[in-house]
Amino acid sequence: MMNNDTILEVKNLKQHFPIRSGFLQRVSGYIKAVDGVSFSVRRNEVLGLVGESGCGKTTVGRTILRLYEPTAGEVWYHRADGARVNVANLDAKAMKALRRELRMIFQDPFSSLNPRRTVKELIGEPLVIHGVARGRALEERVAELMLEVGLDPNYMERYPHEFSGGQRQRIGIARTLSLSPRVIVADEPVSALDVSVQAQVLNLLQGLKDQLGLTLIFIAHDLSVVEHISDRIAVMYVGKIVEMADTDVLLRRPLHPYTEALVSAVPPADPDIKTQRIILEGDVPSPANPPPGCVFHPRCRYANDTTCMTVEPQLAEAAPGHFVACHLANELNLVGIGV
Ligand code: SF4
Repeated sequence: MMNNDTILEVKNLKQHFPIRSGFLQRVSGYIKAVDGVSFSVRRNEVLGLVGESGCGKTTVGRTILRLYEPTAGEVWYHRADGARVNVANLDAKAMKALRRELRMIFQDPFSSLNPRRTVKELIGEPLVIHGVARGRALEERVAELMLEVGLDPNYMERYPHEFSGGQRQRIGIARTLSLSPRVIVADEPVSALDVSVQAQVLNLLQGLKDQLGLTLIFIAHDLSVVEHISDRIAVMYVGKIVEMADTDVLLRRPLHPYTEALVSAVPPADPDIKTQRIILEGDVPSPANPPPGCVFHPRCRYANDTTCMTVEPQLAEAAPGHFVACHLANELNLVGIGV
């Protein structure tokens, strides 16, 4: 999976949150929010991470950046000088230095910006914390960043409430870009925005990625949001990746029944093409108490009552670069977009 272009390699990452109960708050179980996730990301690539709410995709992003301490696993980051570091093992000082290169864009531009700070303070704060710029140089850098994200630098003394939702997300993006990161985890960056504004912010991110040579992990619950920006897509279900492939391949020829259902919800580019939406019955199982066998079997319309219900399928390469975790991947003829 890894080659010279790899910038990030995640190996068997786990994030198990303890469940405490009783008077003594003893650990009575674990919520396996992320349970053995592995993937690599190439330089200047956009990897979409998709799945329903609660599937663990945001936890993967936060654990990679050590906003949550990983329960187990490795996160190998390839620095610009060629050295490899395991982010999961770094001490606090080394991690602080690395945070300049690995950054996050948060979902909600309304709650992630301190309402009592001006735009100049918000965008400039990471530069001050990391001792990169102050005074006149800080102001110039803030103005440069505002222009980069399509904001008027004349508004740098204003407060977040004076901006629209889309503009606030641009402020958040400028703040993320301030330290010239190499890898950005974008956690549902457009899901809190009006549909009319979503495309503008997506176009902005795509343009910045090309212009600045960024690598993005783009997290979303909706395939239609990530399909245009992502080079590859990984689909998550109850803490695991169930399918991963180049975007075009995943959309046209899904191999996992869960992906097929997600793809069926994506509106086709040609309105004359009629598609049939697959409605999944039931809820996503709790990661504290997942069903035996294939965790998707209670909702899978292809499940058999032998292997699917008793043996957990492992993620395996079904075709070059196309990974899937389904016992019947070679037998099902699933429907994708445009076929
Ligand atoms: Fe469905 Fe069985 Fe494949 Fe699981 S292993 S997705 S239950 S067909």
